[in-house]
Amino acid sequence: MGAVGYLVRGGMSFYGRQVGLAANLVRSISVVLADGKLVRATANEHADLFWALRGGDGGFGVVTQIEVSLFPMAQVITGGIFWSAEYAEPILDRWQQWCRTAPERASTSMRLLNLPPLPGIPDQIAGRPVIGLDGAVSVPQESDPASGLRILDQMLPPLRAVAEPLLDTWAPKRLAELLLTHLDPPQPLIYQIDHFLLGDLGSDGIEALVAAAGPTSGSNLLVVALRQLGGAFATGSANGGVVDHLDAAYAHLALGVPSPVAAPWPRPGTAGCRRNVRSEAAGEAVRRRFLCSRASAA
Ligand SMILES: Cc1cc2nc3c(=O)[nH]c(=O)nc-3n(C[C@H](O)[C@H](O)[C@H](O)COP(=O)(O)OP(=O)(O)OC[C@H]3O[C@@H](n4cnc5c(N)ncnc54)[C@H](O)[C@@H]3O)c2cc1C
Repeated sequence: MGAVGYLVRGGMSFYGRQVGLAANLVRSISVVLADGKLVRATANEHADLFWALRGGDGGFGVVTQIEVSLFPMAQVITGGIFWSAEYAEPILDRWQQWCRTAPERASTSMRLLNLPPLPGIPDQIAGRPVIGLDGAVSVPQESDPASGLRILDQMLPPLRAVAEPLLDTWAPKRLAELLLTHLDPPQPLIYQIDHFLLGDLGSDGIEALVAAAGPTSGSNLLVVALRQLGGAFATGSANGGVVDHLDAAYAHLALGVPSPVAAPWPRPGTAGCRRNVRSEAAGEAVRRRFLCSRASAA
């Protein structure tokens, strides 16, 4: 994905619970306006435009340059741990309990995956429904490297106790390796996506989510994810833009890819997942906790 599209829409990274939305780190944006004029927007020049471009998407002109602040990071502990999707409910339940008090240095995603056997997808999780926890535990420069491993030691054992994982790759790694954690394909992909923000799911919300997207749901979505928010995602920034924080516990995402051998578009599809998760019958608890949406309802 492009850096500009990522930044003007807010930008959630795996350091986000520690440093907040990426748009909060933007110092200046150069943009060509509709009248052809090139302006540089900062907190002091074209301040309204600077505010709108940080989270308000790119409809204000063509961005040609963005200057961002950096933050020091010594190392990252990253990877993924995966189980057969039949364990989705207890795994989600234990992860949710951990999320409620998790340290800000940890940013994780719990994902129901149905990935085809393609290059880059590990054999243990390809071609079968699985549930997996991936993400990052940051090791800032001034911190003790062992402190990251201690966070991992609180996060993983309760999950490992549910069932034997199919694959576990969590380990200290080079910073650049974080880009591979999500198993995103390096080539461009045609996909259909839906997302919205959720509060705490509770056990009834987890049940509804698994009914909508779990192994017996009939869903052929490739990815149904809950991304852990809170921490610095929730606090915003003193001079932030129009979107400088996310007031929710999780960002939900559902992604499908059209397939020549299956239905032309996912069935029940991302809209179906939304409908199921929000329906009175299957997901009243999730619907109640539904906070906001940028996409139109199905
Ligand atoms: C596989 C995958 C993983 C993702 N993971 C994450 C993630 O971890 N965190 C996260 O925050 N998001 C994630 N996203 C979402 C992604 O950040 C957004 O879709 C982002 O908007 C993509 O930007 P783009 O420039 O690549 O896409 P585009 O579709 O080209 O652009 C998206 C929008 O950005 C604006 N834009 C782009 N370039 C310019 C420009 N030069 N000037 C003005 N406006 C511009 C336009 O409004 C455009 O409509 C992911 C998406 C995918 C497909």
